[in-house]
Amino acid sequence: QQKVWVLGNGQLGAMLAHAGQPLALDVRPVDIMNPTDDKLPLADNDIITAERELWPESSTSLQLSEHPNFINGAIFARLADRFTQKSLLDELEVATAPWELVEDETQESNLHQAYGDRVLLKRRTGGYDGKGQHWLKQAESTTIPADWRNEAIAEQAINFDEEVSLVGVRTQDGRCLFYPLALNLHQDGILMASVAPLARLSHLQAEAERMLSTIMNGLEYVGVMAMECFRVGDELLVNELAPRVHNSGHWTQAGCHINQFELHLRALCNLPIHTPQVNYPCVMVNLIGIEKDDRWISLPNAELFWYNKEVRVGRKVGHLNLSAHNDELVQDSIAKLKQWMPEQYQAPLEWIIKEFS
Ligand code: ATP
Ligand code: MG
Ligand code: MG
Repeated sequence: QQKVWVLGNGQLGAMLAHAGQPLALDVRPVDIMNPTDDKLPLADNDIITAERELWPESSTSLQLSEHPNFINGAIFARLADRFTQKSLLDELEVATAPWELVEDETQESNLHQAYGDRVLLKRRTGGYDGKGQHWLKQAESTTIPADWRNEAIAEQAINFDEEVSLVGVRTQDGRCLFYPLALNLHQDGILMASVAPLARLSHLQAEAERMLSTIMNGLEYVGVMAMECFRVGDELLVNELAPRVHNSGHWTQAGCHINQFELHLRALCNLPIHTPQVNYPCVMVNLIGIEKDDRWISLPNAELFWYNKEVRVGRKVGHLNLSAHNDELVQDSIAKLKQWMPEQYQAPLEWIIKEFS
Protein backbone atom coordinates (compact mmCIF):
# COMPACT_ATOMS: atom_id res chain seq x y z
CA GLN A 1 0.00 0.00 0.00
CA GLN A 2 1.14 3.53 -0.85
CA LYS A 3 2.37 5.48 2.17
CA VAL A 4 2.55 9.19 2.92
CA TRP A 5 5.78 10.06 4.73
CA VAL A 6 5.99 13.28 6.71
CA LEU A 7 9.26 15.11 7.34
CA GLY A 8 8.83 15.82 11.04
CA ASN A 9 6.92 14.08 13.82
CA GLY A 10 5.51 16.90 15.90
CA GLN A 11 1.84 17.58 16.50
CA LEU A 12 1.15 18.47 12.87
CA GLY A 13 2.52 15.12 11.71
CA ALA A 14 0.48 13.34 14.37
CA MET A 15 -2.70 15.12 13.31
CA LEU A 16 -1.99 14.30 9.64
CA ALA A 17 -1.70 10.63 10.60
CA HIS A 18 -4.91 10.87 12.61
CA ALA A 19 -6.75 12.44 9.67
CA GLY A 20 -5.50 9.73 7.33
CA GLN A 21 -7.08 6.91 9.32
CA PRO A 22 -10.71 7.11 8.14
CA LEU A 23 -9.49 7.07 4.53
CA ALA A 24 -7.13 4.18 5.30
CA LEU A 25 -4.18 6.33 4.29
CA ASP A 26 -0.97 5.08 5.86
CA VAL A 27 0.67 8.29 7.09
CA ARG A 28 4.15 7.97 8.65
CA PRO A 29 5.61 10.97 10.47
CA VAL A 30 9.40 10.72 10.64
CA ASP A 31 11.61 12.10 13.42
CA ILE A 32 14.18 14.11 11.48
CA MET A 33 15.60 15.97 14.46
CA ASN A 34 17.10 12.78 15.96
CA PRO A 35 18.00 10.79 12.86
CA THR A 36 19.27 7.24 13.05
CA ASP A 37 21.20 5.25 10.43
CA ASP A 38 18.15 3.11 9.71
CA LYS A 39 16.90 3.21 6.15
CA LEU A 40 13.22 3.99 5.70
CA PRO A 41 11.31 1.41 3.62
CA LEU A 42 10.36 3.96 0.94
CA ALA A 43 8.57 2.70 -2.17
CA ASP A 44 8.69 4.40 -5.58
CA ASN A 45 5.01 5.33 -5.48
CA ASP A 46 5.06 6.63 -1.89
CA ILE A 47 4.39 10.32 -1.31
CA ILE A 48 6.46 12.68 0.81
CA THR A 49 5.30 15.84 2.58
CA ALA A 50 6.59 17.95 5.47
CA GLU A 51 5.14 19.45 8.63
CA ARG A 52 7.90 22.07 8.85
CA GLU A 53 9.84 24.23 6.42
CA LEU A 54 13.38 23.50 7.61
CA TRP A 55 15.16 20.41 8.79
CA PRO A 56 18.73 19.31 9.37
CA GLU A 57 20.33 17.27 6.63
CA SER A 58 20.83 13.60 7.48
CA SER A 59 20.69 10.34 5.56
CA THR A 60 17.06 10.02 6.71
CA SER A 61 16.01 13.53 5.64
CA LEU A 62 17.85 13.11 2.31
CA GLN A 63 16.09 9.84 1.68
CA LEU A 64 12.80 11.72 1.94
CA SER A 65 13.72 15.06 0.37
CA GLU A 66 15.39 13.46 -2.67
CA HIS A 67 12.47 11.15 -3.40
CA PRO A 68 10.84 12.07 -6.76
CA ASN A 69 7.42 12.24 -5.05
CA PHE A 70 8.47 14.84 -2.50
CA ILE A 71 5.56 17.16 -3.20
CA ASN A 72 6.44 20.89 -3.31
CA GLY A 73 10.10 19.90 -2.72
CA ALA A 74 11.85 23.12 -3.73
CA ILE A 75 9.14 25.35 -2.23
CA PHE A 76 10.00 24.59 1.39
CA ALA A 77 13.44 26.20 1.27
CA ARG A 78 12.09 29.14 -0.72
CA LEU A 79 9.43 29.94 1.87
CA ALA A 80 11.60 29.03 4.86
CA ASP A 81 13.82 32.03 4.09
CA ARG A 82 12.02 35.31 4.67
CA PHE A 83 14.23 36.98 2.07
CA THR A 84 13.12 34.66 -0.72
CA GLN A 85 9.56 34.51 0.63
CA LYS A 86 9.15 38.30 0.65
CA SER A 87 10.87 38.51 -2.76
CA LEU A 88 8.29 36.07 -4.11
CA LEU A 89 5.42 38.19 -2.76
CA ASP A 90 6.92 41.27 -4.43
CA GLU A 91 7.40 39.40 -7.72
CA LEU A 92 3.78 38.20 -7.66
CA GLU A 93 2.66 41.71 -6.64
CA VAL A 94 0.89 40.43 -3.55
CA ALA A 95 0.71 43.16 -0.90
CA THR A 96 3.03 42.70 2.06
CA ALA A 97 4.65 44.92 4.71
CA PRO A 98 7.41 47.04 3.09
CA TRP A 99 10.81 45.45 3.76
CA GLU A 100 14.43 45.10 2.79
CA LEU A 101 17.36 42.79 3.44
CA VAL A 102 19.64 43.88 6.29
CA GLU A 103 23.07 44.03 4.65
CA ASP A 104 26.59 44.89 5.81
CA GLU A 105 26.16 48.56 4.95
CA THR A 106 22.55 48.93 6.20
CA GLN A 107 22.27 51.77 8.71
CA GLU A 108 19.65 52.11 11.42
CA SER A 109 18.99 55.73 10.40
CA ASN A 110 18.20 54.71 6.83
CA LEU A 111 15.79 52.04 8.03
CA HIS A 112 13.98 54.58 10.22
CA GLN A 113 13.90 57.03 7.33
CA ALA A 114 12.34 54.41 5.07
CA TYR A 115 9.93 52.72 7.50
CA GLY A 116 9.38 54.96 10.51
CA ASP A 117 10.49 54.98 14.13
CA ARG A 118 9.67 51.33 14.78
CA VAL A 119 11.25 48.75 12.51
CA LEU A 120 10.97 45.01 13.02
CA LEU A 121 14.00 42.87 12.24
CA LYS A 122 13.18 39.23 11.57
CA ARG A 123 15.73 36.45 11.20
CA ARG A 124 15.58 35.05 7.67
CA THR A 125 15.23 31.47 8.86
CA GLY A 126 14.24 29.49 11.90
CA GLY A 127 11.89 32.02 13.55
CA TYR A 128 8.54 30.85 14.90
CA ASP A 129 6.11 31.94 17.64
CA GLY A 130 7.71 35.39 17.46
CA LYS A 131 11.20 34.04 18.20
CA GLY A 132 13.89 35.54 15.98
CA GLN A 133 12.47 39.07 16.07
CA HIS A 134 14.23 42.24 17.16
CA TRP A 135 12.62 45.68 17.35
CA LEU A 136 14.62 48.73 16.28
CA LYS A 137 13.23 51.77 18.06
CA GLN A 138 14.49 55.15 16.98
CA ALA A 139 13.65 56.75 20.35
CA GLU A 140 15.83 54.19 22.14
CA SER A 141 18.56 54.12 19.45
CA THR A 142 18.37 50.32 19.29
CA THR A 143 21.03 48.95 16.97
CA ILE A 144 21.21 46.08 14.51
CA PRO A 145 22.88 43.08 16.20
CA ALA A 146 26.13 42.36 14.32
CA ASP A 147 25.27 38.73 13.63
CA TRP A 148 21.89 39.72 12.14
CA ARG A 149 23.47 41.36 9.08
CA ASN A 150 22.68 39.37 5.93
CA GLU A 151 20.73 37.03 8.21
CA ALA A 152 17.63 39.19 8.73
CA ILE A 153 15.12 41.35 6.94
CA ALA A 154 13.84 44.70 8.19
CA GLU A 155 10.10 45.25 8.03
CA GLN A 156 7.88 48.26 8.53
CA ALA A 157 5.83 48.04 11.72
CA ILE A 158 2.23 47.66 10.59
CA ASN A 159 -0.37 49.33 12.73
CA PHE A 160 -2.95 46.70 11.89
CA ASP A 161 -6.55 46.49 13.05
CA GLU A 162 -6.30 42.75 13.54
CA GLU A 163 -4.73 39.58 12.15
CA VAL A 164 -6.51 37.09 9.90
CA SER A 165 -5.41 34.02 8.01
CA LEU A 166 -6.58 32.07 5.03
CA VAL A 167 -6.02 28.34 4.70
CA GLY A 168 -6.45 26.97 1.21
CA VAL A 169 -5.58 24.00 -0.93
CA ARG A 170 -4.39 23.61 -4.51
CA THR A 171 -5.13 20.33 -6.24
CA GLN A 172 -2.89 18.48 -8.67
CA ASP A 173 -5.05 19.76 -11.54
CA GLY A 174 -4.58 23.34 -10.36
CA ARG A 175 -7.89 24.13 -8.64
CA CYS A 176 -7.73 26.36 -5.55
CA LEU A 177 -10.25 25.93 -2.72
CA PHE A 178 -10.47 27.68 0.61
CA TYR A 179 -11.82 27.71 4.12
CA PRO A 180 -13.35 30.94 5.37
CA LEU A 181 -10.94 33.47 6.86
CA ALA A 182 -9.97 32.97 10.49
CA LEU A 183 -9.49 35.80 12.96
CA ASN A 184 -6.30 35.31 14.98
CA LEU A 185 -5.12 36.74 18.26
CA HIS A 186 -1.38 36.79 18.92
CA GLN A 187 0.12 37.71 22.26
CA ASP A 188 3.88 38.25 22.49
CA GLY A 189 4.26 36.91 18.94
CA ILE A 190 2.49 33.60 19.64
CA LEU A 191 -0.93 32.54 18.41
CA MET A 192 -3.33 32.36 21.37
CA ALA A 193 -6.70 31.85 19.71
CA SER A 194 -8.56 31.77 16.40
CA VAL A 195 -12.21 32.25 15.53
CA ALA A 196 -13.81 31.22 12.23
CA PRO A 197 -15.85 31.88 10.26
CA LEU A 198 -16.97 35.41 11.06
CA ALA A 199 -19.64 37.20 9.05
CA ARG A 200 -17.91 40.52 9.60
CA LEU A 201 -14.85 39.27 7.67
CA SER A 202 -16.73 37.81 4.71
CA HIS A 203 -16.28 40.92 2.57
CA LEU A 204 -12.51 40.24 2.64
CA GLN A 205 -12.81 36.59 1.57
CA ALA A 206 -12.68 37.12 -2.21
CA GLU A 207 -9.60 39.34 -2.04
CA ALA A 208 -7.83 36.93 0.33
CA GLU A 209 -8.61 34.04 -2.02
CA ARG A 210 -7.30 36.01 -4.97
CA MET A 211 -4.03 36.64 -3.12
CA LEU A 212 -3.48 33.05 -2.02
CA SER A 213 -4.50 31.72 -5.47
CA THR A 214 -1.87 33.97 -7.04
CA ILE A 215 0.73 32.55 -4.66
CA MET A 216 -0.23 28.88 -4.96
CA ASN A 217 -0.58 29.09 -8.76
CA GLY A 218 2.67 31.06 -9.03
CA LEU A 219 4.47 28.27 -7.17
CA GLU A 220 2.48 25.44 -8.82
CA TYR A 221 1.93 24.32 -5.27
CA VAL A 222 -0.04 21.17 -4.32
CA GLY A 223 -1.67 20.72 -0.90
CA VAL A 224 -2.66 22.99 1.96
CA MET A 225 -1.03 26.40 2.40
CA ALA A 226 -1.70 29.07 5.01
CA MET A 227 -1.45 32.81 4.48
CA GLU A 228 -1.22 35.03 7.57
CA CYS A 229 -2.38 38.60 6.97
CA PHE A 230 -2.69 41.93 8.67
CA ARG A 231 -6.05 43.63 8.17
CA VAL A 232 -5.63 47.36 7.81
CA GLY A 233 -9.09 48.78 7.20
CA ASP A 234 -10.40 46.88 4.19
CA GLU A 235 -6.92 46.00 2.94
CA LEU A 236 -4.96 42.83 3.54
CA LEU A 237 -1.17 42.67 3.76
CA VAL A 238 0.47 39.26 3.79
CA ASN A 239 2.57 38.76 6.91
CA GLU A 240 3.90 35.31 6.11
CA LEU A 241 3.16 32.05 4.34
CA ALA A 242 3.36 28.48 5.58
CA PRO A 243 3.59 25.66 2.98
CA ARG A 244 1.76 23.21 5.23
CA VAL A 245 -1.15 22.71 7.57
CA HIS A 246 -1.26 25.55 10.06
CA ASN A 247 -2.23 26.30 13.65
CA SER A 248 -4.85 28.84 12.53
CA GLY A 249 -6.56 26.01 10.60
CA HIS A 250 -7.00 23.72 13.61
CA TRP A 251 -10.58 24.97 14.07
CA THR A 252 -11.50 22.99 10.93
CA GLN A 253 -11.13 19.75 12.94
CA ALA A 254 -14.35 20.64 14.73
CA GLY A 255 -16.07 22.98 12.33
CA CYS A 256 -15.74 21.46 8.86
CA HIS A 257 -16.67 18.20 7.19
CA ILE A 258 -13.13 17.97 5.77
CA ASN A 259 -10.47 19.31 8.11
CA GLN A 260 -7.22 20.87 6.89
CA PHE A 261 -5.22 17.70 7.56
CA GLU A 262 -7.50 15.51 5.48
CA LEU A 263 -7.68 18.20 2.81
CA HIS A 264 -3.88 18.21 2.53
CA LEU A 265 -3.79 14.40 2.27
CA ARG A 266 -6.53 14.36 -0.36
CA ALA A 267 -4.55 16.81 -2.49
CA LEU A 268 -1.29 14.87 -2.10
CA CYS A 269 -2.95 11.56 -2.94
CA ASN A 270 -5.03 13.02 -5.78
CA LEU A 271 -8.31 12.00 -4.13
CA PRO A 272 -11.58 13.83 -4.86
CA ILE A 273 -11.60 17.35 -3.45
CA HIS A 274 -14.34 19.93 -3.16
CA THR A 275 -14.83 22.99 -1.02
CA PRO A 276 -15.07 21.89 2.64
CA GLN A 277 -18.47 22.47 4.17
CA VAL A 278 -18.52 24.51 7.35
CA ASN A 279 -20.77 22.86 9.91
CA TYR A 280 -20.66 25.59 12.54
CA PRO A 281 -18.38 28.40 13.70
CA CYS A 282 -15.53 27.46 15.99
CA VAL A 283 -13.12 28.88 18.50
CA MET A 284 -9.62 27.43 18.83
CA VAL A 285 -7.67 28.13 22.00
CA ASN A 286 -3.99 27.24 22.02
CA LEU A 287 -2.71 25.60 25.21
CA ILE A 288 0.68 27.15 25.85
CA GLY A 289 2.98 26.20 28.70
CA ILE A 290 0.18 24.87 30.91
CA GLU A 291 -0.54 21.47 32.40
CA LYS A 292 -3.40 19.38 31.07
CA ASP A 293 -6.64 19.99 32.92
CA ASP A 294 -9.45 17.47 32.44
CA ARG A 295 -12.04 20.05 33.45
CA TRP A 296 -11.62 21.44 29.92
CA ILE A 297 -13.36 18.41 28.43
CA SER A 298 -16.29 18.83 30.81
CA LEU A 299 -17.35 21.73 28.58
CA PRO A 300 -20.18 20.47 26.38
CA ASN A 301 -18.74 21.97 23.19
CA ALA A 302 -15.03 21.23 23.69
CA GLU A 303 -12.64 18.92 21.86
CA LEU A 304 -9.15 18.61 23.29
CA PHE A 305 -6.01 17.87 21.32
CA TRP A 306 -3.17 17.25 23.76
CA TYR A 307 0.22 16.84 22.08
CA ASN A 308 1.91 14.85 24.84
CA LYS A 309 4.93 17.11 24.89
CA GLU A 310 6.88 18.18 27.94
CA VAL A 311 5.27 21.35 29.30
CA ARG A 312 7.61 24.35 29.04
CA VAL A 313 7.00 28.07 29.31
CA GLY A 314 5.78 29.47 25.98
CA ARG A 315 5.54 26.04 24.36
CA LYS A 316 2.42 24.92 22.49
CA VAL A 317 1.32 21.71 24.20
CA GLY A 318 -2.22 21.35 22.89
CA HIS A 319 -5.28 23.12 21.65
CA LEU A 320 -8.94 23.20 22.50
CA ASN A 321 -11.61 23.50 19.82
CA LEU A 322 -14.96 24.86 20.94
CA SER A 323 -17.94 24.67 18.63
CA ALA A 324 -20.05 27.80 18.58
CA HIS A 325 -23.61 26.71 17.85
CA ASN A 326 -24.81 29.85 19.58
CA ASP A 327 -23.36 32.82 21.44
CA GLU A 328 -24.48 31.66 24.89
CA LEU A 329 -22.68 28.36 24.54
CA VAL A 330 -19.41 30.15 23.77
CA GLN A 331 -19.89 32.68 26.53
CA ASP A 332 -20.57 29.95 29.11
CA SER A 333 -17.58 27.88 28.06
CA ILE A 334 -15.21 30.82 27.94
CA ALA A 335 -16.40 32.01 31.36
CA LYS A 336 -15.45 28.60 32.78
CA LEU A 337 -12.08 28.63 31.03
CA LYS A 338 -11.41 32.06 32.49
CA GLN A 339 -11.75 30.57 35.96
CA TRP A 340 -9.55 27.59 35.19
CA MET A 341 -6.80 29.24 33.16
CA PRO A 342 -3.91 31.45 34.30
CA GLU A 343 -3.45 35.18 33.95
CA GLN A 344 -2.03 35.23 30.42
CA TYR A 345 -5.28 33.73 29.14
CA GLN A 346 -7.60 36.38 30.56
CA ALA A 347 -7.13 38.88 27.72
CA PRO A 348 -7.40 36.33 24.89
CA LEU A 349 -10.54 34.80 26.46
CA GLU A 350 -12.08 38.26 26.81
CA TRP A 351 -11.23 38.85 23.16
CA ILE A 352 -13.18 35.70 22.23
CA ILE A 353 -16.21 36.69 24.29
CA LYS A 354 -16.32 40.05 22.49
CA GLU A 355 -16.77 38.30 19.12
CA PHE A 356 -19.78 36.40 20.46
CA SER A 357 -21.68 39.15 22.20
P1 ATP B 1 4.60 32.02 13.52
O1 ATP B 1 4.56 31.27 14.80
O2 ATP B 1 3.24 32.52 13.08
O3 ATP B 1 5.32 31.30 12.42
P2 ATP B 1 6.81 33.91 13.39
O4 ATP B 1 7.75 33.85 14.52
O5 ATP B 1 7.18 33.28 12.11
O6 ATP B 1 5.38 33.39 13.86
P3 ATP B 1 5.57 36.36 12.35
O7 ATP B 1 4.31 35.66 12.05
O8 ATP B 1 6.27 37.02 11.23
O9 ATP B 1 6.62 35.45 13.15
O10 ATP B 1 5.29 37.43 13.49
C1 ATP B 1 4.67 37.04 14.70
C2 ATP B 1 3.70 38.11 15.13
O11 ATP B 1 4.42 39.35 15.34
C3 ATP B 1 2.65 38.44 14.09
O12 ATP B 1 1.57 37.54 14.14
C4 ATP B 1 2.28 39.85 14.52
O13 ATP B 1 1.45 39.84 15.66
C5 ATP B 1 3.62 40.44 14.91
N1 ATP B 1 4.25 41.10 13.73
C6 ATP B 1 4.97 40.48 12.76
N2 ATP B 1 5.35 41.34 11.82
C7 ATP B 1 4.88 42.55 12.18
C8 ATP B 1 4.94 43.86 11.59
N3 ATP B 1 5.59 44.09 10.46
N4 ATP B 1 4.32 44.87 12.25
C9 ATP B 1 3.67 44.64 13.42
N5 ATP B 1 3.57 43.43 14.01
C10 ATP B 1 4.17 42.40 13.41
MG1 MG C 1 6.32 31.92 10.94
MG1 MG D 1 3.31 34.07 11.90
